[in-house]
Amino acid sequence: MPAAMSIPPAILRDMQEVGRDLYRLALVTSHGGNLSVRDGSAMWITGTGTMLGRLQERHIARVHANGSHDGPPPSSDTFLHTTIYALGGAAAVVHAHPRHAIALSFDTGCFVPGDLEGQLHLKQVPVVEAGERQVEQIAHALQSSLVVLLRGHGAYARGQSLWEALHWITALEESAHIEVIRRSMTPR
Ligand SMILES: [Zn+2]
Repeated sequence: MPAAMSIPPAILRDMQEVGRDLYRLALVTSHGGNLSVRDGSAMWITGTGTMLGRLQERHIARVHANGSHDGPPPSSDTFLHTTIYALGGAAAVVHAHPRHAIALSFDTGCFVPGDLEGQLHLKQVPVVEAGERQVEQIAHALQSSLVVLLRGHGAYARGQSLWEALHWITALEESAHIEVIRRSMTPR
């Protein structure tokens, strides 16, 4: 393997540990979700269909600024990750399928957490409709929000590290779970 292709050990370790946490917390299925880390004008991103709970170096692609890549075929969300980094401000992106948050995404254009932790950290979470403009809309929404929902599909979070992006995904799912419990208890 050429030296240019070797993933820095610290980035590999973060991707493995955050991927494992996402799977063990049931925030992705065995083969769902994706992760990336910006590396200058390039990025490291999980390959399409890889198991986030069992990531190895061979599952991670390096995508260059010109769009070419080394390693496995990169995630089908690669263009979205590229667009988020191009707009600036993010060093890592996590995509997961937090189930309570997805359930709430069907009937709202913006999820506003009712719990104090969610209000403090997330304030409000925009919901983007799936369609031709979803990449542009998600990337732009992540300029002002830490995490965004794609209706009926999942969440995208950005951070200065994968750990920060994981924090926003888990915070979103905690707030959404509380909201679902609250609705089930409250006569409407
Ligand atoms: Zn997905």
